[in-house]
Order: sequence, then C-alpha cells, then structure tokens
Amino acid sequence: MVDGSRKADKFRALQQKFMAQLPAKLTELQELWRAMQGNAIEDDHESVHTLLQRQIHSLAGSAGTFGFTRLGKQACEVEALLKAAQYDNGLIENALNNLNRLQNEVPEPPSELASPRIFTAHDVTPLMSLVYVLEDDPLLGKEIAHQLIHFGYEAKVFTHQSDLTAAYTQQLPSALIADIKLPEGILEGPRITSQLHSSLTQTIPTIFISNRDDWEARLMAARGGGEAYLTKPLDFSALVERLDLMCGHRQETPYRILIIEDTPLLAEHYATVLQTAGMETVILNDPAPLLDLLGEFRADLILMDIYMPSCTGTEAARVIRQHSSYQNLPIVYLSTESALEEQLLALREGGDDFLHKTISDQHLISAVAIRAERFRGLSMMMICDSLTGLLNHINMKLALEREIVQVRRRGGNLCFVMVDIDHFKAINDSYGHPVGDRVIKSLARFLKQRLRKSDIAARYGGEEFALILPDTTSDQALVLINYLRAGFAEIQHRKNQGEFTVTFSAGIATVPPSEDMEALILTADTALYEAKQAGRNQVHVKNLSSRENIERYPCTDEETIHE
Ligand code: GH3
Ligand code: MG
Ligand code: MG
Ligand code: MG
Repeated sequence: MVDGSRKADKFRALQQKFMAQLPAKLTELQELWRAMQGNAIEDDHESVHTLLQRQIHSLAGSAGTFGFTRLGKQACEVEALLKAAQYDNGLIENALNNLNRLQNEVPEPPSELASPRIFTAHDVTPLMSLVYVLEDDPLLGKEIAHQLIHFGYEAKVFTHQSDLTAAYTQQLPSALIADIKLPEGILEGPRITSQLHSSLTQTIPTIFISNRDDWEARLMAARGGGEAYLTKPLDFSALVERLDLMCGHRQETPYRILIIEDTPLLAEHYATVLQTAGMETVILNDPAPLLDLLGEFRADLILMDIYMPSCTGTEAARVIRQHSSYQNLPIVYLSTESALEEQLLALREGGDDFLHKTISDQHLISAVAIRAERFRGLSMMMICDSLTGLLNHINMKLALEREIVQVRRRGGNLCFVMVDIDHFKAINDSYGHPVGDRVIKSLARFLKQRLRKSDIAARYGGEEFALILPDTTSDQALVLINYLRAGFAEIQHRKNQGEFTVTFSAGIATVPPSEDMEALILTADTALYEAKQAGRNQVHVKNLSSRENIERYPCTDEETIHE
C-alpha cells in the first residue's frame, strides 16, 4: 500500500522534477514564439504554431498540479490568446514574460496534502454511548467491550457488584448489560440491577445475558427490569441491535405537525401540547398559504379544523390531495362536530381521522404521534432498503448526482466507494441465508455508525454497499476505508455453533477527475474488481477521468494503489 507519507514524498519528487524542467520549457516557449514571428509567411508557420500551442497547453495543465497556480493560470491565458483569430502580439509577449517571472514563485503544497481530512475520535466513533457490563467472566467481558466499540459503544466492564455500584455514583450509563448468574448467587444479576435502579428517577435500559434459558431465569430478568434477554454464547450483532433500539441510536428528527385552525388561541394550545411531546409545530389561521408552506415545512401530519371562514377543512384537504406528493400525508380533523354523518363525510374527503376538540392532551399527543410515525415509516420504506435501513440503490444514485453537482460547483473532492463482502456466497451456503442477512445488517450498521453525518451509506444491492464521501480526497478515503476494513474483519459473527469473521473488499473512485456519475460508478467498480482479483480483503483506488474511462476501460492497473 502506498501510504500518505510515501505519496507525499512521491509528489515532492515529481514537483522537483517539474521545477527543474521549467526554465528550459519557458525558454523553448520563447523560442517557438520568436520562430513564429520570423516565419510569419513561411510554410512551417503552421507547424510552429501547433507546437507552441501544444507546449503551452501542457504547461497550463501541469503547473497548477505542482503548486504553481498563478503560472498555470497565466499559461491558460496565453493558450487562449494563441487561439484568437488575430493575435495581439503585444499581449502574448507580455504574458510570456509573466510566465518567466512566475516561475520563481514558491510552489504551494497540493491541496490534498494541505488540508487533510483529520480523523478525530468524533469522526470515526461519533457519539460513543457508555454501557456498563456486569460479567464475572473477565474474558467474556473483554470480548463484549471489544465488539461493542465497533458499533459506537464504550463498554466498562465490572466483575464485581461493588465496582458497578461505585461507577453508578460517578456516571450513569446509557444501558446496562448484566449476567444473571454471579459469584454472589445463581440469580444475583437481576437482584443487583433492580436494587441499583430502584432509587433512580430515570430508566436505565437493561439487557440480561445468561447460560440459562428457563422460565425462572427469564422471569427474574423481567422483574429485574430486563428489556432483553440473550443467551450465551452471545450473538454480538443481536446484542448491538437491542442496544441500538434501547439507546435510540437511530435518533429521529422531531415530528413536524402543521396546525390549521382559525381560532388563534386554540391553535396555540394544540401547538403547546404537541411541543411538550417534542414535536415541531407551525400554525396557519387560514388555509390559503398552505401549499407554499407544505413544501418548506415538510409536515408529517396536518391537524385540520373543519369550520373556518374562508373554506372548510374538507375543502382544504381536497386541495392538498390534488398534489400527488401529498397523497399519503396524514390529515387529522379537529372539530366540535359530533354528527356521525359529518364525520364520515370528512373522512371520505381524504382525512385519516376525526378527533373531537375536547380531546385530552395525552390522547391528542398519542393520536398525532402514531399517525406521524406511520407516515415516516412509509416514507422511509420508499427511500430505504428494508433489510438494512440504508438508502436504496435508486436513492443512492439520486444522492450521488446531487453531491457531484455540489462538488463541481464549490470545487474540492468527493470519493465514491463500492464495498462488496468477500466470499459471501460461501457464508450463505455454509451457515444459511438468515445468518447471511445478519452479516449484511451488521456491516450496514457498522458503516452507518462509523461514517460522518455528511457521508452517505447505501445498499447498492445484495451484499454490495456504496459510500459517498464528500470533501474527501482519495488518500483520505483510502485511509478511512482501510480502517473500516480492518475493524469489520475483527467482528465476530455467530453461526449455529461458534463464530466466524467476514472481510470485505472496496474500490474507490474520485471526483475529480471523474465527472459523470456513471463513469464514477464504473471506475469504483473496476477498482473493486481489481481488489477482488488481487486476493480480496483490500482497498483499491482508481483515478480515471470520465474520458479515460470510456477510452481505456477495461484499464491496466498502473493507477492502482493497494495494500
Ligand atoms: P466475492 O468475494 O467475489 O464477492 O464472492 P461472493 O460470493 O461474495 O460474490 P457473489 O456475487 O458470487 O455472491 C453474492 C451472493 O450474495 C449471492 C447471493 O445469493 C447472496 N445475496 C445477495 N443478496 C442477499 C441477501 O439479501 N441476503 C443474503 N443472505 N444473501 C444475499
Ligand atoms: Mg373554526
Ligand atoms: Mg457482489
Ligand atoms: Mg461478494
């Protein structure tokens, strides 16, 4: 593998070479220009002109790369001047002299090296949640901690009750994992936890782990506040799945509720009630600006008054349903209306429910939350893969298209990574499809946990994943993906009897030089193919421009960097 510092050395060597050749190049340009003037009417005027253009074009292309940005820009200008139908000799002369002057400037370091993507602890392990583990087997405790860290949990292991109790006085954990049987007694775990938790005002989600799988042990665990019960040998991915659910790692953004109600005070009241439940609200006292607002606010639910001066709620609902994008948006009517006929009519007009205005606060919150949640779930299903919850193929492409446009607009780099699990067919064949599914889910969770918020992870299909890393150079992506590759390879996956580990291979392509999305995907795929060919469990980078990609595919591996 060509690591960062070797790459930097290589760059410096090339830069030196460029600088050494620069004076001779500039002299040649001057000479060609003079020759062109002298041969103004001769036959070889044309060929001298072509040669000069070619030389200046090459300088324009390379100077910037080696840190001579101003020289590169000036060369571009000369190139443009030479292309004009009527040259302005004076201008060209001037520009050529400028080139001579600019060659003495100190070159800048390349932008990739000047602003490296720095891996802070937060970057690769965002939002570590603290988990306490009470387990008298120190080896198992250590293994739990080791596995959990890959998924964003910092586990502190205690082999004795007294140490755990002391830790509680220092800091409360996000969750507790406790063994059922401890040296103090065969059902001691649940007793200790219920004692520990009884004096707390907040609930600490608790998972019990045990060799036992009988009613008595499970009942004790339930009484001890256990929300989950896992038998040994532990399935770490099941453990992480439960922790994620309990600790709310998939933290949702608040539900957005649009309240359409002509009585301001009443509207304020609903808003306040829903806000206490953590929802975001916007009030409209008249439905007219509704459509403009919906686009912006992206409501998860509309709470709609029935009787308003300018139009009825059912009429407003009809207008909303005229828009295909709001076909499924839940509309809940709120009214004093109690006649059944009227209610049924309202529901027929595209409403989802009918609540009486005398509804209790708690009932209002739950009626709204249930429907908003279902709506969110349905929306997620449209854009996310059902097994992993990552973006699906089609939405990954939409996201990639958007990101490419942005990186072109603001400059900088973007990396696109294709990840494919090694010998996955063998995992399915040997351990069964459900175990294979677990591995896919665990890689999905691992990737999601380890990437930055601005990065995008998607399920490309089957056992293939795609990652979009904005503001990341190929060097940085190589370091990151290799780091992830090594981390994932350490995770123990459970089969019926015992454990196994899984590796993946990855291919990276970058913008620039690739410009167009299909070429970018193709380049990453080629890099992935090469990583597989070279023996799997490795990461390859390919830097091909879209044009090269079309002309040279399938390509040689001279640009390939690998382990
Ligand atoms: P390589 O190292 O070359 O990538 O070998 P591989 O066996 O991983 O690749 P191959 O493409 O031959 O096999 C991929 C397998 O993944 C075939 C398919 O049955 C399986 N697969 C695809 N989607 C799923 C899924 O959702 N769940 C499970 N369990 N298996 C899947
Ligand atoms: Mg009203
Ligand atoms: Mg595959
Ligand atoms: Mg594979």
